[in-house]
Amino acid sequence: MIVNVIWTSLLVLSTLTLAVLSLPTTSITEEVKNKDDFNPEMDDDVPADRYLTHEEMITWLNSIARRYPKKAKTFSIGKSEEGRDLLVLELSHSVGRGERDLLMPMVKLIGNIHGNEVVGRQLLLRTISHLIQKDSVDPRVTRLLNTTDIFFLPSMNPDGFVKAREGDCWSGGPEGGRLNAKNIDLNRDFPDQFKPEDKLLRSQSELLQGRAAETQAVIRWIKNNPFVLSASLHGGAVVASYPYDGSDTDQLQGYYSASPDDRVFRKLSQDYADRHPLMKKADTCGVGFPDGITNGARWYDLKGGMQDFNYVHSNAFEVTLELSCCKYAPAADLPAEWEYNRKPLLNYIASTHRGVRGLIIDKDTKRPIRDAYVHVSGIDKNITSTERGEYWRLLSPGRYTIQSFAEGYIPSASRSISITDIYTEQVNFELESKFPRKTISRLVCN
Ligand SMILES: [Zn+2]
Repeated sequence: MIVNVIWTSLLVLSTLTLAVLSLPTTSITEEVKNKDDFNPEMDDDVPADRYLTHEEMITWLNSIARRYPKKAKTFSIGKSEEGRDLLVLELSHSVGRGERDLLMPMVKLIGNIHGNEVVGRQLLLRTISHLIQKDSVDPRVTRLLNTTDIFFLPSMNPDGFVKAREGDCWSGGPEGGRLNAKNIDLNRDFPDQFKPEDKLLRSQSELLQGRAAETQAVIRWIKNNPFVLSASLHGGAVVASYPYDGSDTDQLQGYYSASPDDRVFRKLSQDYADRHPLMKKADTCGVGFPDGITNGARWYDLKGGMQDFNYVHSNAFEVTLELSCCKYAPAADLPAEWEYNRKPLLNYIASTHRGVRGLIIDKDTKRPIRDAYVHVSGIDKNITSTERGEYWRLLSPGRYTIQSFAEGYIPSASRSISITDIYTEQVNFELESKFPRKTISRLVCN
């Protein structure tokens, strides 16, 4: 049996989505201290016009968590090859409640996977600062933090970052900081569905074997948490690039390698580009992306990227956001970059509330069913449920037929749903066991 319930906070979320779309413009100098006055132990703001060092960033993230324990928490997901922490800051009102609320979606934002692509790293720090300061001031931010579990990994490649130099726009080699300390390109280091040697990898230990320390940490993080949405922030172009990055062809450029969720990815990417004043301009960086978006493989084929790994090996949908023509842009560009990207980033985080979500439970026991599947007709990608029976299924606007099934259970009936741009639908499933308790107890008694 399927129970379709309009989520009680539907109106809240519809308001949230619309509200984030229309966040007001503020002046470039808002809330910004003189760069020389910055104290990472005390200040909520990060400087608008200079990059933080690795040490400053770690101190600042931890100080935010210490000063705002009801909404912020830091933890390390592992260490880089040279022993630097891969520090994550979690931001959500659920932090203060001690546990993620049931059905609250998890979003992650990862910067600096290439150590010399640094604008995204700094923008994530400013996003944290913005959300901390606007909470309880701007009701739209308060609602966002009350309904969303947001994780920031501003620097995935701190060893590369410490080698990189401001103003170096193009370095691609080991000396420039793109790679990690073992000269590995982390965005070529993930298991890839199109690499023959990776196709048979299944268990977590198989997926981890032979990878860089940073890649291993992120693989574990992805596999052990039910992320719904993700972004990877890069530089060297200005475009939103979506899966797949790889293909089964040997074509270096021009082949459109569509994933089953091409429509969702196009929508997520277009929503970002439409809110960014430069992304859709054909002459930005001298390379034209007419809509400001591209299929990854069509731009250029790459294997071992993080974006495809998320989609193929988890429920997380990840888009690659290329944010600046110059990889290590001069710090003087940072205030403008924040203006360009603030609305798109906040809207991107809020878009995790689009689509359908719900609980999958056992009809008899009412217990959650873990690893149940949600199938959408016509989309060859099933989403799996968490140990609490939750699922989230991002969808672009339209009508769909969905169904749930799980090992040992009779598949649910199909359910027709209508998805719009402005609210999340909740559809719960109660699955009937193929071996009902009464039958089992009768068998035992007899
Ligand atoms: Zn990059």
